Amino acid sequence: MDYIRPEIRALSAYHVPSAEGLIKLDAMENPYPLPAELQEILAASLPSLALNRYPDPNANLVKDEIRQVFSIHPQAEIILGNGSDEIIQMIAMAVAKPNAVVMGVDPSFVMFKMIATFVGMKYVGVGLNQDFSLDRDAILSAIEEHQPEIIFLAYPNNPTGNCFDEETLLSVIEKSKKLVVIDEAYFPFTDRSMLSRLMQFPNLVVMRTLSKLGLAGVRLGFLAGPVEIIGEINKVRLPYNISVLDQQATRLLLQHYALFKAQTEKIKIERSRLIREISQLNQVHLFPSEANFVLLRVAQAQDVFNRILERGILIKNLNNAHSSLKGCLRVTVGSEEENTLFLNALKSSIT
Ligand code: PMP
Repeated sequence: MDYIRPEIRALSAYHVPSAEGLIKLDAMENPYPLPAELQEILAASLPSLALNRYPDPNANLVKDEIRQVFSIHPQAEIILGNGSDEIIQMIAMAVAKPNAVVMGVDPSFVMFKMIATFVGMKYVGVGLNQDFSLDRDAILSAIEEHQPEIIFLAYPNNPTGNCFDEETLLSVIEKSKKLVVIDEAYFPFTDRSMLSRLMQFPNLVVMRTLSKLGLAGVRLGFLAGPVEIIGEINKVRLPYNISVLDQQATRLLLQHYALFKAQTEKIKIERSRLIREISQLNQVHLFPSEANFVLLRVAQAQDVFNRILERGILIKNLNNAHSSLKGCLRVTVGSEEENTLFLNALKSSIT
């Protein structure tokens, strides 16, 4: 297999553990199904779809809906991806050249590093402070040293759950003369956003996904920014990357955005309850979260993870993911019932 590049052979495929028969609190999904009225609206629209035809390559109706729902700056351009994963890939493909650097922070979303490797770029991860805040001096000097072509920063960050300091982010955008991607995958769960800063900087683009909002199965992400950047990235996009079904679902469902907002408000209330209850446990250190998950640190994380799994609940064990995540477990905020089951499982697993 020596025709496969050595850096690809050295990778392990992105592993998605089976959740069959388990309560799934490992992947930051919205626990609530599509509201019944939306199921009906969607179902009623399916027979008339032209599945024999290719989709609109520009998905213009979807883009219009996104512009409206998220109040995208009128001068900004947008591009859609099959999930924001695909957008990360498109950005990397458009930029990749030998020895070019992708910069991120460590720990952060693993796809930034993986995709950098896929396209033959070098990934430089700047360590976060112990409390997972952004180390201003470290990142500014790393930019100086490595001159990254792309910087990816998740805001809030995954898997740590916090939002970085806004002033520091702005310094990063100003310091870097190249592309800075602010990944707002967890936007439904925080008031912080860089979207209103679009077009204030020539090198800032903002990426969002509908996955955490409640449409992870649809696979729809978008990137907004100056037309000069988005127009170039659009050239590496495969022509029909958003299917007829995805376009239809996204467009119709976003017309009822308020229903998803209501679900994410419920998730935020549940997040507060989880935080309140976990904070009372002496054996658990809880990190602040502005996302739909919480990160906790326990002694014997592997054992605690296994005991919670034995009680039928799948969470994410990050114990071996990164040196700064020793003892860490990440738990998606589920429905009220799921969270109660998780809390009981956690309490009985740490004692
Ligand atoms: N960015 C971040 C920070 C994420 O955590 C995730 C998913 N876990 C994604 C992007 C990818 O989301 P999707 O491909 O579902 O849009």
